[in-house]
Amino acid sequence: MKLQDLASHVSSEFEKLYGRPPRWIAAAPGRVNIIGEHTDYNDGFVLPMAIEYYSVMAADRPVDGREVITLRSTLEAEVATIDLTRPVRPAAPKWGNYPRGVVAGFQERGIQPGGLDVLLHSTVPLGSGLSSSAALEVCTATLLEAVTGTTLDPVEKALLCQKAEHDFAGVPCGIMDQFISALGREGHLLLLDCRPRTTELVPMSDPSVALLIINTNVKHELSGGEYAERRAQCEEAARNLGVESLRDVTAVQLEAGKSKISETVYRRARHVIGEIGRTVDAVGSVRQSDWPAVGQLMYASHAALRDDYEVSCEELDVVVEIAEAIGERGGVYGCRMTGGGFGGCCVALVKASAVEDISKKIAADYKARTGIAATIFASRPAAGATVVKG
Ligand code: ADP
Ligand code: MG
Repeated sequence: MKLQDLASHVSSEFEKLYGRPPRWIAAAPGRVNIIGEHTDYNDGFVLPMAIEYYSVMAADRPVDGREVITLRSTLEAEVATIDLTRPVRPAAPKWGNYPRGVVAGFQERGIQPGGLDVLLHSTVPLGSGLSSSAALEVCTATLLEAVTGTTLDPVEKALLCQKAEHDFAGVPCGIMDQFISALGREGHLLLLDCRPRTTELVPMSDPSVALLIINTNVKHELSGGEYAERRAQCEEAARNLGVESLRDVTAVQLEAGKSKISETVYRRARHVIGEIGRTVDAVGSVRQSDWPAVGQLMYASHAALRDDYEVSCEELDVVVEIAEAIGERGGVYGCRMTGGGFGGCCVALVKASAVEDISKKIAADYKARTGIAATIFASRPAAGATVVKG
């Protein structure tokens, strides 16, 4: 659904619920990472794009003038309230903690949002790795900007939202999701250098290509320590190689220092170092609209995540195998798992004209091989957060 239509829908839902039209409407997108996986905490590069799926908030001042923010979500039964006459702290229901943390961030900067009646709706699927959480935070921040008439620097806004996720939702996330949701631009990818936290928009407006996001609809419950273990292995590799982070190591240096690290740690480092290089190479290929080259880098990324970093799973591998079998003749340039791994989504670079055929084929073959129904979305690089009304 186009953002404008989505906003109209949320506006009429707000009116049904609160009995008057909203005064403000804000939106912020989810995202998909094209390449650069598990590189963020190694001071590397990531290359996400905003997707045409959004978190949308419609709001008005409460009729009784109370200093309370009342948040209703079309996807949650429980109403979240924030009493602004007291210090804002994490509280039940849990979903309210993302906006709560953002409100607290504004207050810390001396910006008082004042009471609000809010309706939230999201077309970003929740908990699928497309970052509905960052979309919710950045949407809240964008709404508060409109309401208070203050515009934050977009980088500061992204960092405020990341802090909300750390402190209020208890999720130690990186900076990618909030950056792309806040800074994305239509027809562009965002190259983010996680070391100095600088960004560069990379044009990708060729109408002949699109991105397909294939949700495997599985999430393998592991012991939970995998992410921390991978991080620790990367730190161990950097320490033993005598550098601050794996960003400082070339492939040649890794080979030379192979005897200083275990075989497993070597493979983890090989993925990270290779992936940082692939991300930089992908930017060059996107700039030249060399889609077959971008596609090959995506396949190489997947292979390294599967074999060296060991964060893939059967279902993700099946999707990539199906995509490879369709091949360039069938309109697929490349495909890889995206996100932390062990389930979630794959992203494929495809010919725009073949989106429907490819989606049908992947859905049918994935169902036949796994017994699971995938959910498939197509998107072109979308705009970042916007004030739709107000
Ligand atoms: P992801 O960011 O990959 O979608 P997370 O687990 O980080 O997954 O964030 C999902 C959580 O964000 C949900 O469980 C919910 O608490 C919150 N959330 C996001 N969007 C909404 C929404 N529209 N309504 C209510 N809660 C939401
Ligand atoms: Mg999230």
